[in-house]
Amino acid sequence: MKLKDNLGREIDYMRISITDRCNLHCRYCMPEVQDRLPHEEILRYEEILRICKAAIRLGIRKFKITGGEPLVRKGAADLIARLKMLPGTDCVTLTTNGTRLYEEIDSLKQAGLDGVNISMDAVSPEVYEKITGGDHFHEAEIALYACVKTGLKTKINTVLLKENREEWLKLASFAETLPVDVRFIELMPVGCAGKLEGPSVDEAYRIIKDRWPDLYQSDEKHGNGPAVYFKSSSLSGSIGFIGANSHRFCSQCNRIRLTSAGELKPCLSYETGVDLKRLIRSGADDVQLENALKEAIQNKPAAHCFSEKEEITERRPMNQIGG
Ligand code: SAM
Ligand code: SF4
Repeated sequence: MKLKDNLGREIDYMRISITDRCNLHCRYCMPEVQDRLPHEEILRYEEILRICKAAIRLGIRKFKITGGEPLVRKGAADLIARLKMLPGTDCVTLTTNGTRLYEEIDSLKQAGLDGVNISMDAVSPEVYEKITGGDHFHEAEIALYACVKTGLKTKINTVLLKENREEWLKLASFAETLPVDVRFIELMPVGCAGKLEGPSVDEAYRIIKDRWPDLYQSDEKHGNGPAVYFKSSSLSGSIGFIGANSHRFCSQCNRIRLTSAGELKPCLSYETGVDLKRLIRSGADDVQLENALKEAIQNKPAAHCFSEKEEITERRPMNQIGG
């Protein structure tokens, strides 16, 4: 069964934030230590799985586990294994800062994880620390090599910032030696990132194209998202660009987000969502749960409003929403 919103977009992908906590402090996401949500406010794994089952019955097929940093929550690999076992699940992937990934690779592989995105905004330890607040590039790099070695489909996510301009080519070079996708993502003005300005994917593209002049666009589908991918005869992997601001792709949006506090969010830029935690904790049956999911999906906004900042109503930082 296909699940469509009121604008006819097929919605088959749910991003699930399993925690608001994180061991890094990226300046565009969670620059300072925050009050954490109390444990009882965070969805239990059983509750997440119940929501996923309802979502699958409606037509969701693909899941991404995210956060905060998903690997700071105990049992993430076990959740992935259980999600993978649900009839109707096609694909489960993970987005992580990579700092705790190395020690989890075997359990994630065993769980059946279909792919991992490792966030890396710099290669130079000083720039990495300036952006993330931690000296952990090395851990993420070791995990990257280990993921590739073990055969996990691996992507690198780099947010485009003026602070990491000098790092773009170094990061892109991972695709020279490794079969990985290196994706450059425009900074989205959500939460504290609303006060920052980021370079565009067009600027990054020009720099990458100068380095690999035979870069050509590839039509291959690489995942669930809106990245546009490029290849070159000198690259083992690909370079992807996600121009959330400059190349709006909302007309093809296929996703919804479940926050760690149990709210279903149909669009990143608006605070609106449906409180599924309250619903299930107040004893709702499966039909009521499905109806709530359907309602949120059907009323998914037509587009984000990142270019009209005064219209953005989402004030929470990305780690609380689930990026
Ligand atoms: N902690 C994990 C990580 O860093 O990969 C998962 C959660 S993080 C919120 C998910 C992704 O969102 C990361 O790749 C991060 O760089 C990206 N991100 C966070 N805030 C962003 C923003 N304002 N604009 C664009 N991407 C952002
Ligand atoms: Fe943590 Fe990821 Fe946010 Fe960085 S982007 S602070 S690693 S949740």
